[in-house]
Amino acid sequence: MPAKVFVITGPSGVGKGTLIRTLRERMPELELAVSATTRRPRLGETQGVHYHFLDEAEFLRRIEAGDFVEHAEYSGRRYGTLRSELDKRIAEGHSVVLEIEVQGARQIAQTMPEAVRIFIAPPDERTLLNRLIGRDTDTREEIDRRLQVAKSELAAQDEFSHVVVNDRLDDAIDELQRVVSRM
Ligand code: 5GP
Repeated sequence: MPAKVFVITGPSGVGKGTLIRTLRERMPELELAVSATTRRPRLGETQGVHYHFLDEAEFLRRIEAGDFVEHAEYSGRRYGTLRSELDKRIAEGHSVVLEIEVQGARQIAQTMPEAVRIFIAPPDERTLLNRLIGRDTDTREEIDRRLQVAKSELAAQDEFSHVVVNDRLDDAIDELQRVVSRM
């Protein structure tokens, strides 16, 4: 299949990371773009593997240089997709998956209309809130900020032609794989 860009979006805590990890076990030809961020690495996160961790000045410099295909502020920190992450993989004929929040996915709709955008939705709002609260990677204040954002992100679901509900993980992965394989 020709190299494509798949944008996986949805609220924080919905399980995007787990779904993408499992999808890539089934479809190893899919490559993951490493995002840039100004947030601090969490325990176990490695520079250049989980993110390109940049300081604020460097991130701003790279915005000015036009290095990002999209970038957004989320919970007080910046996140963005570097053009170089996509270009090198597409040039090698590999399809690329982006895991990004909703504002970034909207920008991609404008700048790369050919990208396939998929929204991961929770079965219901309460389940999402419980998942966010249950994550032990974030502080209480951080969780509160993410809960607020998650509520508005949920409302964006209608903007996406592909919506995968993450209720049972196995079903959600099957569905995601169906969407990706069909393209
Ligand atoms: P976290 O801090 O939990 O790693 O990520 C917070 C949010 O930022 C998640 O919804 C994640 O999908 C999103 N995110 C990660 N990388 C990017 C990116 O490159 N661009 C945008 N717009 N969002 C991103």
